[in-house]
Amino acid sequence: SRYTRARAYVSSTPYNVSSVRARLRAYRGGVELAGSPRGANNIITVRTDGGNRVNLNDSFWFYVPPDWRSGTVTFRVEVNYDNAVPESNIGNNSLSRTVTFRESQELNLVMVPLHLHNHGNRNNPTLSYYATNSAFTSLLWNILRFHPISRINWWYYESAEYPSFHGWPFYNEWDVSTSGGKSAILSAIEWKNFWTWDWVSRLHWMGMVHPSLDTDGGLGLGNRPGWNSWAKMINSHDGWPDWYITGGNSMSHELGHNKGLQHVNCSGNESSGGSTDPNYPWPYPNCRLSAVDTSGYYGFDVHYQIWGLASPTVLSNDPAASSPNQAFPLMGYRRPRWISPYEYCKLLVQYGISCGLFTQFETAQQRLEEAVTSNPLAFADPGELRALQQATEYIAAGGLISITAGTAEFNGVYQIDNPAPDARQEAAEKLGYRRVFGLQVEQPFTLVQVNASGQVLDSREIYLVNDDGEGDVQHFLELLPLAPGTTRVQIRQGDKVLAERAASPNPPTVQLLAPNGGEQLGPGATVRWSASDPDGGDLTFNVLYSADNGQSWRLIGMDLTGDSFEIPSLTDLPGSSQGRMRVVASDGFHTAQDDSDGTFSVPGSPPLAVILEPATGTSAEPGSLVVLQGMATDVEDGPLSGTRLSWRSDRDGDLGTGEELAVESLSQGTHQITLTATDSDGQSGSATVTIYVGTPPTRLYLPILARP
Ligand SMILES: [Zn+2]
Ligand SMILES: [Zn+2]
Repeated sequence: SRYTRARAYVSSTPYNVSSVRARLRAYRGGVELAGSPRGANNIITVRTDGGNRVNLNDSFWFYVPPDWRSGTVTFRVEVNYDNAVPESNIGNNSLSRTVTFRESQELNLVMVPLHLHNHGNRNNPTLSYYATNSAFTSLLWNILRFHPISRINWWYYESAEYPSFHGWPFYNEWDVSTSGGKSAILSAIEWKNFWTWDWVSRLHWMGMVHPSLDTDGGLGLGNRPGWNSWAKMINSHDGWPDWYITGGNSMSHELGHNKGLQHVNCSGNESSGGSTDPNYPWPYPNCRLSAVDTSGYYGFDVHYQIWGLASPTVLSNDPAASSPNQAFPLMGYRRPRWISPYEYCKLLVQYGISCGLFTQFETAQQRLEEAVTSNPLAFADPGELRALQQATEYIAAGGLISITAGTAEFNGVYQIDNPAPDARQEAAEKLGYRRVFGLQVEQPFTLVQVNASGQVLDSREIYLVNDDGEGDVQHFLELLPLAPGTTRVQIRQGDKVLAERAASPNPPTVQLLAPNGGEQLGPGATVRWSASDPDGGDLTFNVLYSADNGQSWRLIGMDLTGDSFEIPSLTDLPGSSQGRMRVVASDGFHTAQDDSDGTFSVPGSPPLAVILEPATGTSAEPGSLVVLQGMATDVEDGPLSGTRLSWRSDRDGDLGTGEELAVESLSQGTHQITLTATDSDGQSGSATVTIYVGTPPTRLYLPILARP
């Protein structure tokens, strides 16, 4: 189902021939498909040397419509089919190629803004990144360019993630220009993921970092392998060619780590960002995308319109090519970055499609890593896995460890009996990951459970998950069965206790006061509770919301203090007439929780609609192909598709429905093209672009983006 173009390379003898046309036919099971043949997008001069493949117009290129993109399809290109150019031999004017389309997995992604200040100084302005429609278009679409997924399902978690104890009257912000700050925000994303019940399986969590934040050159950080990462949302070319969007490329790079990809050695300092792929520089030395070969691999940017380009950019396999055709592998540090066949093949395997192109060059360790990433539970220690799955009481502990200083701190310790199912699942996966992944340190750090008389009840090595330039300070998050009798949880290195949380004699008590049933939540809605700690300790609170009467929960506030929390954005909460709220009180070890006694209502939110192409200002020849591409996501329904997306021209009326629609019959003139997405409770959101068919008028039209 992926957006697809076909290219055909041609040559002529004995001289160059100009103004040549070509068309593409498509057959499945010997039956010609609807819409076949299709004309090429360009009319070219055919050269005796076959032309230069980097030059778009030295070859023919074709749009491949959606219903040609499944099953086994034979494509047949026919050059000079109209005999416009007299030829002595037309027997070599056509060529067939049979390909099989296979559906890979979809990618599920939720994006969470992070609340940050430059250098962690609260006196500096707050830098929280809130995406706009057009930012989603350009940032998100990079993931489809570089990851071989059948589609991307995305959600936006609008309320920002704050540093722990942000509300306390002392300095505690994240300084993302330091190693500790970079790890701390990854840890925060991991905690948010931990508390929230993933609403789809295999959900990746991505923290959004404001582009103006000083990150000391860092563009992102991602667990390898895993589900959590963050990236700097630089929604611009950032000095690179027009096809290159720095933030979207960084997201793709971090998701590559999540899928188990290592760095490749390009700039020479990738190893400072974790392990590098031992195969590199094989198979392609000097940071090449592939072998430098005129008949080899070329990148082709099928999504060019999204970046406002008039035609696709071709990426050369030669690293010496000039801009904008020059590119380097996605997992290296040299920019601009494109996906290499080697990386693409590795990702295909993780998205469920076998790809053996490079298996012969893999080390045994790499094969093992790939297998563990695909199916970590198969590699988990069976005893540990059983203990985790059968436990009724757990310790969830996370924190930061400085490797060189030999220091550590907890950023959360909770004794709980009801972790989210996917939190337990991800803990189980880590039991597999840790067999082959994780930072190796000379003297391991351990997480230790101790009883009142100082006896060690349980001790295990802390899995330092990150492998992407986290640097000195590493983060961890472990979910373990509680060892009965535990009164203290410690981080140790050898016998040395680096950090400790001790249980006070009594757990806290908490009562949720509002919303407690019967309410209709509106803007400014506030969650209130009353809590006490018999031991007089300080309490912090997490607030969770359920749209399904307590079946599943999502974290909306963490590490809160005081006795109330104003919900920052109701659009974060799926609308429901069966809403419940939960408050979890923590004294730093024990937890207590209380839910709303009855259900309350939360208004539903309209979908967010995004037009990917055409870009505003685009013009097309009358009768030529215009591809409309868009998507929408809805807080209640998730991604919308099919008839829930409808397209309309203010000039020609209804055009059709779906995420991708090819139209060739737009009338001459200016069109406002509107995509309207409608969710299951009838609310709608729309986006509009202005395009011209024929010669554009001199008057300037501005893009209109609307979300009621
Ligand atoms: Zn702040
Ligand atoms: Zn990296």
